[in-house]
Amino acid sequence: MPHVTGRHFLQIPGPSPVPDRVLRAMSQQVIDHRGPEFADLGLNALAAIKSIFKTQQDVIIYPSSGTGAWEAALANVLREGDRVLMYETGHFATLWKKMAEKLGIQAEFIGGDWRSGVDPAVIEEHLRKDSGHQIKAVCVVHNETSTGSTSPIAEVRRAIDNAGHPALLMVDTISGLGSVDFRFDEWGVDVAVSGSQKGLMLPPGISFNAVSRKALDAAAQGGTRRSYWDWKEMLDITGKGYFPYTPATNMLYGLVDAVAMIHEEGLENVFARHQRHAAATRAAVRAWDLEVLCQQQGHESGVLTAVLMPEGHSADAFRKAALKNYNISLGSGLSKVADKVFRIGHLGDINDLTLIGALSGVELALSKAGVPHSKGGVAVAMEHLLNTPSPGIDA
Ligand code: PLP
Repeated sequence: MPHVTGRHFLQIPGPSPVPDRVLRAMSQQVIDHRGPEFADLGLNALAAIKSIFKTQQDVIIYPSSGTGAWEAALANVLREGDRVLMYETGHFATLWKKMAEKLGIQAEFIGGDWRSGVDPAVIEEHLRKDSGHQIKAVCVVHNETSTGSTSPIAEVRRAIDNAGHPALLMVDTISGLGSVDFRFDEWGVDVAVSGSQKGLMLPPGISFNAVSRKALDAAAQGGTRRSYWDWKEMLDITGKGYFPYTPATNMLYGLVDAVAMIHEEGLENVFARHQRHAAATRAAVRAWDLEVLCQQQGHESGVLTAVLMPEGHSADAFRKAALKNYNISLGSGLSKVADKVFRIGHLGDINDLTLIGALSGVELALSKAGVPHSKGGVAVAMEHLLNTPSPGIDA
């Protein structure tokens, strides 16, 4: 492989680039996870992640990718034969539903067009029909990483309450947490699932379950037979800062520093920065005369923008040209939209110039790959950034 100069632009919607400070925090010697020094690290890591979930309730940290935390969420509260209501927002909602089915859970899947988030009114309608309260949980994806649509979680809670239904609210915020607003306690979420490699600016490797009192009660009374994923085994010991098995020690070092960085910027400023960059990206896409996949105004993701390719053009060939010529990685289209969309990640440790660099890479690659478009999207994005205050800098 010839040497490629300059830095690689990792503009996929996670894993996102890891700040040097976090890498340095992680490059410490491993310590005894049962020794006296470890308790502080464990307690600090838990306090840190709770502040991002906006919860006073319990959070569990698993040494696994997000998929493991998905399974933990299902296995702790649901058992074979239980019914759940899920919503087809895109590829990840579909995968979570497939996992539920593999565990023997009966998933009722509300169909979606992959161009919007969930409609809380449809959830309410389904729950009202379930007068016998057979549905044990409503499972939704907060930020659908395959399409770039977010879902209104507080409104889903209201829909469940309006229907007078006791179902648990389970939310995948794997790519939402730390990038778009999420309020575990205030929104009445029962189980939230997340991962390290997106808004938290860490490498892949740890994942989370935030759990409500109601979810813990459900777990105490039921769930699937489980061991590694069992919340109780974890919570019996994590209150003291320890883990029942060997934790991902160096990821915890990173987590403490990454969350410190988020709070130094200001959590609300972080959310506003993501929205500002997302809006600038959409402005560029429209100026290129291309189409944003998410069609639901107000629900476009702050984390990523999925862009539809013009008919007859391959998104994968375009991404290949972008990588070869400009050293930029863009997200691919997944399952139903494979080769039809590419995704621009604008999450985590990025600033205005990172974004402009990334959008320039896209605009150059569109020309290089012969994709029909109008020029000048980057200039429009720059204008948008100039005219929109930068939270935390202009404040
Ligand atoms: N859910 C969402 C919304 C995701 O974006 C991802 C990964 O990108 C997953 C679930 C699966 O997580 P992981 O790949 O960390 O197992």
